[in-house]
Order: sequence, then C-alpha cells, then structure tokens
Amino acid sequence: MASEWERYLRQQVELGGSEVVLARAVSRRVGEPENSSGAEVQRAVGVDQPSAPPSLRPSGWRKGCPPIPGPGLSVESPTHVLDDELVRLGTLEEVAERIRTTHCCALCPNRTNAVPGEGNPQAKLFLVGEGPGATEDAQGRPFVGQAGSLLNGILEAIEVPRDSVYITNIVKCRPPQNRKPLPDEIAACIPYLHRQIEIVQPKVILALGSTAAEAMLGVRKSLGELRGKVHTYNGIPLVVTYHPAALLRNPNWKKPTWDDVRIARQLLDR
Ligand code: URA
Repeated sequence: MASEWERYLRQQVELGGSEVVLARAVSRRVGEPENSSGAEVQRAVGVDQPSAPPSLRPSGWRKGCPPIPGPGLSVESPTHVLDDELVRLGTLEEVAERIRTTHCCALCPNRTNAVPGEGNPQAKLFLVGEGPGATEDAQGRPFVGQAGSLLNGILEAIEVPRDSVYITNIVKCRPPQNRKPLPDEIAACIPYLHRQIEIVQPKVILALGSTAAEAMLGVRKSLGELRGKVHTYNGIPLVVTYHPAALLRNPNWKKPTWDDVRIARQLLDR
C-alpha cells in the first residue's frame, strides 16, 4: 500500500512533475539517515524534486549543525549617508514610497518597478540580496523568481517562514542584463538599506552573495574570506553566504550554504 509520502509525491507529479521526479523523490524518504553532505538542503531547496509536505518533513536542521564561528569584521553604518529626510521616515512603507518615487541613480529611469523590499516589520532575520532580476522588476517584489524559490526552500528547511523575515537588496532597481551594480549605484541606494535596518532592528542579518556582503561590510574581499565568521553591523550579527542564484549555477555550494544558514538560524535562538 502506498505510504503517505508516496501519495503526496504522486499528487505532486500529477500537479506537473514527472515520473523521473517521482522515482528520485521516492528513493529519498523522510526518515532516511541525514548526514551533513548537503543532501537535506538539496532536498529542501528541491531543484529537481518536490519538497516534503510539512507534516512529514523532519526537523533536521540541527543535526550535524556547525558550531557558531568566531567574530569577524565589526562595522557601523555610516551615519553621514542618511540625509535628514531619510532619517525622518519612520516606517518601512514610508521608505518604500520614497524609493518608488525617487530617481537616485542611473538604474532608476529604466526600471519597470522599484523593488524596495518586503516582509515582517518586526523580523528577527533580515536578508539582503544584490539587486532585482527580471521577475522582481516586473512584480516590484524581491526574490520572486527562480532564486527566490530556492531561497524559500532554504528558509523552510531552517523552519523560518518567509513571511516572518524581511527581504531586500543592496540596489532597489534592476541593473541591465542583471549585471553587478556599480559602486556609484550602490553608494546612491545603500542609505535606504541602512534606514530599513534601523527601522526593523533585526536580531540577525544574512548577506546573500559577495555584492551584499562587501557593500554592507565596506570591504573588497572574496566570499570565501567573508564566510565562516560572525561579523557585526551596528552590533547586529551578520552572516555571509552564497547567493541563491549562485547555487543554481554551482550545486557544490549548497553544502557550505546549508552550514551558513544553520549558523544564522542558531544565532536567532541565542
Ligand atoms: N537576486 C537578487 O539579488 N535579488 C532579488 O530580489 C532577486 C534575485
């Protein structure tokens, strides 16, 4: 007789998967021993398979969890970048409205929509990406494309609902062809991010990718050098990990990402 797990997977397949997906997924049942090889995040982020129904998913993120690493860089947000008008904006919605109605750099005239950020104003976890892609530009919301689906899976795997976090980017308008934002574009836009963090006052910040990490920490260093430490930003612990889009290109980075997000997850509990 088909188990609950198999019935769920069959339902997923009927909803648009394939027999190959079913065959692969059934071969990895909940309850199989977990290791820290990244298999769990591979399943959780589900690049090629449906994720398990919540009632069946083991709360496995603690298993093989890396210890919280030592301190890294400690930075203060540069107060001079916050002009008086921005400081007077007291809510995230006011900041978002300012972003939507202002042109602050060369990216703004070409946007379909600005993407100020979204989420819980009382978020404990604050995520920062690089900049909107095509789907985000079309919808005016962060991380709603393929990288966003992956991010949703990662958050689910550490038992942090997406609607409990705040998500934004270093630049709020899409760079052409998704190129990296230029230094002057970052400089023009980053005051909004500083103000958003001041308003939310999160417990932990997760920087997704080197653009976010370098811009927030004010350094030029590789992701490898910035990962594996707990930096602080205005006294708030800041963890650096790979950008979800990078994981789509290179699955070898899933395991280190899984470690990084579990470090951030433990910091939330502290
Ligand atoms: N990549 C980002 O850095 N941000 C988004 O919002 C989407 C994709």
